[in-house]
Amino acid sequence: MDKERKLIIAGNWKMNKTVAEAIALVQGLKRELAAVKDVDVVVCPAFTALSEVSKELLSSNIRLGAQNMSENGYGAFTGEIAAGMLRDLSVRYVILGHSERRQFQKETDALIAAKAKAAHAASLIPIVCVGETLAEREGGITEKVVETQVSGSLAGLTQEQVVETVLAYEPVWAIGTGKTATSAQAQEVHAFIRKLLATMFDEATAKRVRIQYGGSVKAANAREILSQPDVDGALVGGASLEERGFVEIIKNSL
Ligand code: PEP
Repeated sequence: MDKERKLIIAGNWKMNKTVAEAIALVQGLKRELAAVKDVDVVVCPAFTALSEVSKELLSSNIRLGAQNMSENGYGAFTGEIAAGMLRDLSVRYVILGHSERRQFQKETDALIAAKAKAAHAASLIPIVCVGETLAEREGGITEKVVETQVSGSLAGLTQEQVVETVLAYEPVWAIGTGKTATSAQAQEVHAFIRKLLATMFDEATAKRVRIQYGGSVKAANAREILSQPDVDGALVGGASLEERGFVEIIKNSL
């Protein structure tokens, strides 16, 4: 697929897989995707599997991501994980502000912005998630919601940091539901986000930021969605838990 920005396809494994299951999956992905150079492939296991998966990915073209991190540095924060601890395991990416964390952990845009800053300070690339609920879409406020989330979650980042940030547009109503936004719906919001980035920063910066789509992406719909001009990759939940499904999404994007 000939794209303006290099595609990035990331698997969000959420709270799934033992260490042994994670290793088995990543061994399969390594075998199947060894020749892939034109797409950045990322897997985001649970914290408990990061260390072993990291070893398995040494000298692989697949990169490692985490699903969350603390906004704080090392210190007295029981149960939290600092960005430096992720770097220590050769983690390169970190998903921030996933809608499940916004919903269940009540994460706010301000908290996500603090985490994004801390991620950059540790040379991690944040994947910042935004997206409207079904009620918000039906209420006609998708753009307003997404604008608030994007500007709030990127607040305080420099232009250079924003270029090194991945955004993920994930309509909440499409996550884990089997309902996917149409490619036109995805493109419309992605183009809106890029326009917004141009007003927040400038046109050149906006053109360089990669914006993933997430929400029930699978092999059957990946090509159509990824072919949209402002869709620069996918954040994949359910379909990334199984080797064949994730491999096919990536192969369908080439
Ligand atoms: C996600 O949780 O980021 C996601 C997109 O999940 P799914 O692909 O299962 O809809």
